Amino acid sequence: MSLTEEINKRRTFGIISHPDAGKTTLTEKLLLFGGAIQSAGAVKSNKIKKTATSDFMEIEKQRGISVATSVMAFNYKGTKINILDTPGHKDFAEDTYRTLTAVDSVILVIDCANGVEAQTKKLMEVCRMRNTPVIVFINKMDREGQDPFDLLDEIEDILKIKVRPLSWPIGIGATFKGVYNMFEKHLNLFDASKTKLARDIVSISDLNDSALDTQIGETPANKLREDIELIEGVYEEFNEQQYLDGTLAPVFFGSALNNFGVQELLDAFIKIAPFPRSRTTDVREIAPTEDNFSGFVFKIHANLDPNHRDRIAFLRICSGKFERNKFYQHIRNNKKLKFSNPTSFMAQDKSVIDEAFPGDVIGLYDSGNFKIGDTLTEGEIMNFQGIPSFSPEIFKELINKDPMKSKQLEKGINQLTDEGVAQLFTQQPGNRKIIGTVGELQFEVIQYRLKHEYGASADFMAKNFYKACWMTSDDDSKIEDFVKRKAQYIAEDKDGNLVFLAQTQFLLQSAQADYPEITFHTTSEFK
Ligand code: GDP
Repeated sequence: MSLTEEINKRRTFGIISHPDAGKTTLTEKLLLFGGAIQSAGAVKSNKIKKTATSDFMEIEKQRGISVATSVMAFNYKGTKINILDTPGHKDFAEDTYRTLTAVDSVILVIDCANGVEAQTKKLMEVCRMRNTPVIVFINKMDREGQDPFDLLDEIEDILKIKVRPLSWPIGIGATFKGVYNMFEKHLNLFDASKTKLARDIVSISDLNDSALDTQIGETPANKLREDIELIEGVYEEFNEQQYLDGTLAPVFFGSALNNFGVQELLDAFIKIAPFPRSRTTDVREIAPTEDNFSGFVFKIHANLDPNHRDRIAFLRICSGKFERNKFYQHIRNNKKLKFSNPTSFMAQDKSVIDEAFPGDVIGLYDSGNFKIGDTLTEGEIMNFQGIPSFSPEIFKELINKDPMKSKQLEKGINQLTDEGVAQLFTQQPGNRKIIGTVGELQFEVIQYRLKHEYGASADFMAKNFYKACWMTSDDDSKIEDFVKRKAQYIAEDKDGNLVFLAQTQFLLQSAQADYPEITFHTTSEFK
């Protein structure tokens, strides 16, 4: 198969949602319909098995949240689907944002009773930054929720994106019977089933067919006919280009738990979702069809086996063909590296691969070479863009509780922050380490992992900072002057960039007013 054919058959996407909307359930059902698993529940039970062998994952089990982002690939109707799972919990939002740099599109899951929630809004903002195409799946239609038309309005208003329903619910809550597929103009009624693939009961391609009345009853049938007529009148025809540009979101309704609407979603997805797209670097745009391999690391995962210190770096392939045992250039370290055991993640199985193509995500065993955002190429010097650090929201100083273990602590905190668990800033005098995160939970993860993986004991002292701001100016002397005046609020990030640790929003605004020549940035990437 040619490189272009390999690229065209791949769809790499993320499923995102506010916690509890049904992301995990939908992921499982996509795997089930895709034939990758035989019964739902398998993904979860596998998770629990892994937890037993892993200290780090113990935290996940105890808290019942998904700390790690995982990759699941499967083949469906000639398409290779790569799903990148993301943690829904807000304390791990940064992990999710970084994962979104590695996808070509997303499916956004919304709970029909709760509608658009806090995390839904934030995730949508991240998608908008890169014009990522979004498909919306409105879930839990078997429960009493809001009116479908109201939900569509709410999405347009709050998420600021045009919508176009491509499937429509028949009834809601107790009367929910399934969905009409507006994309294929076709109706499949299924047996509700929580674990197995459902059996088709009936298939209707003309809404005026009287079989519809017999199957679902005359009143619901008429309601469906009216709804569809209304939609066709109110909404424009689905415009695929607008979806690909990120300005229009097709909407599907269903109940992931009961298998309703999932097949409709999956079948439309493989038809409309984009295949691997071009990516920007600091030098030029890289098309997936270029012969030379390139890719970047968007996630680093601590090894699940605590007896081994090595980690897995997740690499998204952007162009060319990746090959096992071939030397590639690690741009940041200016080093040649080859990989003897690159792994792919097919559904729940890991296996060593010989080659991989744009859109694929592979796992590279790493003993400390990689940092999030690192680029690998066949030699060309360039760095993929769009993997910024966002300003943390909670800051604490790292306190060493065991002076005999200061080396371990130093190594541990460096490695953990390379993995992106938190951001590390160093303050003078005394090389004080300030840890910045978006959530409290990370401090527990850090403390736990420092102890169990590095044998170091750490404590934290709360710091009263509001934001960390990176600074740029055409006039370096202005920054020098500012840094002198505000010395106690200046720190360095891991790459040696100066940041201003502003204590309050007011102090940040007055710094900006006093130093109009300096621009203060709340993300680390500002080219
Ligand atoms: P996540 O946090 O977004 O991954 O959500 P989960 O997939 O873990 O689902 C959260 C809860 O909602 C679980 O108890 C699911 O069983 C339940 N759930 C998911 N989908 C549906 C659905 O279609 N209908 C109903 N009634 N419950 C659902």
